[in-house]
Amino acid sequence: MQLDAIYTYPPALSQARSAIVIGGGVAGCFAGYFLHKAGFQVKLLERNDSIANEASGNAAGIIYPRLEASWNPPTQFYLQAWQMLMATLAELEGLVDFHKVGMARLALTAKDQERFVKIAELVDRSSWLRYENAQQAEKLLGIPLNYDFLYTPESGYLSVPSLCRALTRDIEVVTGVEAQGLERVGQSWYVCTKNSNDVLSADVVVVANAFAASLLLGSEFFNLSRVRGQVNYLQPQDEGTAGLRAVLCHKGYVTPLREGRHHIGATYNHDDFSSELIAAESQANLAQLQQMLPEFQGEITGGRAAVRCYAKDKMPIIGPMPSLRQPGGAMDVAMAMENSGVVNAPGLFVSIAHGSRGILSACLGGHIIQRAIVGEAVVGDDVNKSIHPARFFARSLRAAGINKLPS
Ligand SMILES: Cc1cc2nc3c(=O)[nH]c(=O)nc-3n(C[C@H](O)[C@H](O)[C@H](O)COP(=O)(O)OP(=O)(O)OC[C@H]3O[C@@H](n4cnc5c(N)ncnc54)[C@H](O)[C@@H]3O)c2cc1C
Repeated sequence: MQLDAIYTYPPALSQARSAIVIGGGVAGCFAGYFLHKAGFQVKLLERNDSIANEASGNAAGIIYPRLEASWNPPTQFYLQAWQMLMATLAELEGLVDFHKVGMARLALTAKDQERFVKIAELVDRSSWLRYENAQQAEKLLGIPLNYDFLYTPESGYLSVPSLCRALTRDIEVVTGVEAQGLERVGQSWYVCTKNSNDVLSADVVVVANAFAASLLLGSEFFNLSRVRGQVNYLQPQDEGTAGLRAVLCHKGYVTPLREGRHHIGATYNHDDFSSELIAAESQANLAQLQQMLPEFQGEITGGRAAVRCYAKDKMPIIGPMPSLRQPGGAMDVAMAMENSGVVNAPGLFVSIAHGSRGILSACLGGHIIQRAIVGEAVVGDDVNKSIHPARFFARSLRAAGINKLPS
């Protein structure tokens, strides 16, 4: 059997009616939302006392698709995610603190200009994204700028906690409960938890608990990493920047005023995984902004920090989980494959490693999982391979010269 068979979706679970989602960040909330919409009885487990407390706690998350100057899997994935998110925000109209103020990605170098022109040509099918020159800045963005920019008028920023609350308003959310183990017995999945004697069961489990997924599913299988990020609030001293109407993305980003402050960010710290504010990171956010846009002067008046989870190839991990004999890792998968060819663990799905663009990727992730349960692939083959949970395992087999699977 060809190695690519590892990416095959499992057969439809037409009898499945109940789901447990592990993790109350944006990934778990989107998964719960799409499953509930499809008629599932959903229970979402969150270890903290409330949802959206960790990476998904930002009051101003930017809707920022990763688009590249080629029709590659990231471009395709994020374009599709964009469409899905816009449709979902329309369904949730009035429930999410969403500011559709537009977003401008600034062309800081000649190379950026060249790249952005290409992206606009490649992607512009519905005129939602266009290349604009610097003379248009004041009219479109509210302040004069010296940079050309890639402009997405329908984008903007939203409060991620408000999004999570809207997505979960009709589903059962159980907080203060930490999932510790998973087991499949017969047709059901059983989830044991740390702080409750109950063992919960459902037809389907979605693991959406970011970096902690390694503990449930096996760390070596996913190649997960963490990076801390901090955003800060900037009280402007200059009336001029108060006129900013759209989000500006440079190497970081700055939002229009929200409750009198710009939100600026974000840092990437690979050595510290705390959620305390770090003064040096506040300075780094301000220095990075002022290097590109010196007109932004003012005082830092607070911020927020959390830890992002990402995969080594910077794409999210979304889809059906290959069979685990027992939760524990790649060796179990290898054993299972050796004994019975490629098998998926029926009813076990993951949506993790959303990196810096979780608002978009978690949305398409939830949709992909819901459709996979009924046996339908909603992304193309190349995109599926770029996000599939088995990709690191498949790549390691290939690197070891194994191009076929036992059948
Ligand atoms: C500073 C910063 C700025 C960012 N800016 C943007 C932005 O502008 N735009 C954008 O799109 N993205 C942005 N991101 C990234 C985005 O926030 C993340 O990609 C997204 O929040 C990830 O969501 P998640 O649900 O995967 O993870 P999380 O939000 O971390 O959620 C995982 C949840 O699982 C829970 N959990 C863990 N283990 C268990 C367990 N065993 N049982 C039960 N619950 C468990 C955790 O408590 C947590 O609530 C930013 C991130 C940071 C840190």
